[in-house]
Amino acid sequence: MLKKSFAFPIALVFFLSSCASYNSELLSPNALSIRSPSSSETEENLEVSFQSMMNSTDPEKVFLDNFDRLKSLFTRAESNLGEFDKELDESVITHNALSFEYSKSYRKLIVMWGLSHRLKDKMIFNYLKLTDIAYDNSVSADKRKLANSLLRKFKAKLDSNNPLEKISFEELKIEIENAVKARNGLLLKPMSPVEMPATSIIDDQEKVSILRKYRETFRKMGRIAQDSDDELNRIIEDKAEKLQIVDQEGREPQSELKFYPSTGPNGNVMGLIFPKNVWALTYDDGPNPVHTPVILKNLEELGIKATFFWLAENVIRYQSIVDMVGEKTMVRANHSWSHPQLPKLSDEGLQKEIVQSTAVESKSYGEKLRFFRCPYGSGNSVPRVRKMIADLGMIHVFWNVDTLDWQDKDPDSIVERAKKQMQASGHGVILFHDIHPQSVIASRKLIEWSKTLKGSENAIRWVTLPEIVDEMNGAGATK
Ligand SMILES: [Zn+2]
Repeated sequence: MLKKSFAFPIALVFFLSSCASYNSELLSPNALSIRSPSSSETEENLEVSFQSMMNSTDPEKVFLDNFDRLKSLFTRAESNLGEFDKELDESVITHNALSFEYSKSYRKLIVMWGLSHRLKDKMIFNYLKLTDIAYDNSVSADKRKLANSLLRKFKAKLDSNNPLEKISFEELKIEIENAVKARNGLLLKPMSPVEMPATSIIDDQEKVSILRKYRETFRKMGRIAQDSDDELNRIIEDKAEKLQIVDQEGREPQSELKFYPSTGPNGNVMGLIFPKNVWALTYDDGPNPVHTPVILKNLEELGIKATFFWLAENVIRYQSIVDMVGEKTMVRANHSWSHPQLPKLSDEGLQKEIVQSTAVESKSYGEKLRFFRCPYGSGNSVPRVRKMIADLGMIHVFWNVDTLDWQDKDPDSIVERAKKQMQASGHGVILFHDIHPQSVIASRKLIEWSKTLKGSENAIRWVTLPEIVDEMNGAGATK
């Protein structure tokens, strides 16, 4: 039996420990509506799944299954991260850039990323719904009792002392905290301790040390899970099989320009045709009130400009950070409204994610947008997705170096992964996310490392996307 219990002597700060004081703030009768989901799950779907859990014969089991699934996705992704890093080592030896399209472990990682994203949305939705029900006197006593009992289970799980659970539920806790803040209109303000979600990990340093200590165990557990013939594995394999990251076939004539709004593989920015040692640093999924300002400060100190691909839902929340990044002449681009898998959406859904998000961001940034990146890189080879982006005059952007900083919590291992891919490719676009603490540290370390190459034949030139696009298209060509 692999599931052993880990002893981890850490003082825990419990949230929900005092339900009376906890609910008074959160559950005022005029509580705002549930946060809009940040994935392709619509609010209706989340509501249906919530109701089916509450009405099932064993709601607690259905509820706890979500935690097991999230944990399982984490260990499987850890295992695939290990496999990806092995492939990377081979590609460095052979001096071949690792092709994401042909890497099975990479495609599986992308699938697991999307699955855990959606699962977390579902769990956050459940959390907020349960708090509503638990203290709503118009709801039957039985139902309130059930909601309270499930909330206690939530707390117990989030405060778990098991290192694997600590690490795999950490982001869920932070996202719940943000969802509660958003609902209470406290986005930029600190919350009172009673409202804080559990903090079973003291700081990021502790998180990294837990990860380092147990990484081999997590990866081994993930490998065992992947060798099993379970439902989750079949879903991952099936989706990874179908996942097309970049289309091979052209559908339109080659333009005279290198980069232009297009629906096929030509015209895109991927970084593969950049001049030698030219690199664009990109950050996705923000703006984030905690991490984006630190990244900005680091970039400024190090004299580097980067390109940010943001979600409209965050842009609306954090206009001050949008302005701050703009004032430092960094580049702001679009990464959809709420990070769904675009190919799965109806035309109406696509309109919101591509057209409306572009309108909102363009207004917020005070300029016309030139670049769009599909969430998870999904939709790159889907004509109706690409056409909508191209019709708005935006150039579609991918990456050729993926730091996988959403799964890896260890900044040093993120830097190593980035350096190896950079070494194998020689030029391109690097993908980070400005929503994780580890990404802040890792991207700073990567830039610092790049400075040590100054004067050598491998000296790196950092560019923003408009800089390199205009340079390669011929000055002013796409202005
Ligand atoms: Zn993203």
